[in-house]
Amino acid sequence: MTDRLFHVRQQVAACDRCSLSETRKNSVPGNGSFRADVIFVGEAPGRNEDAHGIPFVGMAGRKLSAALEYSGVTRDEVYITNVVKCRPPDNRVPDQTERETCRDYLQKEIQIIDPKMICIMGNTAFGSILGGDRITEHRGKIMRKNNRLYFVTIHPAAAIYRQELFDVLKSDIKSMFGAITELKNGKNVTVDVECTS
Ligand code: URA
Repeated sequence: MTDRLFHVRQQVAACDRCSLSETRKNSVPGNGSFRADVIFVGEAPGRNEDAHGIPFVGMAGRKLSAALEYSGVTRDEVYITNVVKCRPPDNRVPDQTERETCRDYLQKEIQIIDPKMICIMGNTAFGSILGGDRITEHRGKIMRKNNRLYFVTIHPAAAIYRQELFDVLKSDIKSMFGAITELKNGKNVTVDVECTS
């Protein structure tokens, strides 16, 4: 298990499949527990993540950590990653080719960790993973696709300067951990949306 994840990390570290590898300082593989119940997925590394090679270590990351703390969970109990593993120049949104080229790494992370829930943070991850848009309409919902459960919430960067969005992020994440506890106790959770395509 750990070996397989380590192998993915090595592949990401050496990746030159797309032109983002030419401008990055460091690629940013997922980080956290390989036994995690939940994988959090953001968009792509920013400046701080690129400098350190670790996801969500800047201001958005501090919001995410604080939202986890609000649920009594620490970062090392979960696994945190991104749709795209290298920083797009000027923090632009990764394009379709970059997302497609990187898709296989996220799929492997999910396959190896096999979490109870995948927490999609923000529109880029929502679009890339479930083909959705309009995060505000779907946030707070549990969705199921190909037998996997997804929880949709806003991107922590949106909560940096807006307390009301930070409150949304905290309460979404708390309700997601409530659902995970139910699952661990062998109970069913209500799936709000079944994704068929
Ligand atoms: N935003 C993201 O989507 N990912 C990070 O790792 C940091 C900021």
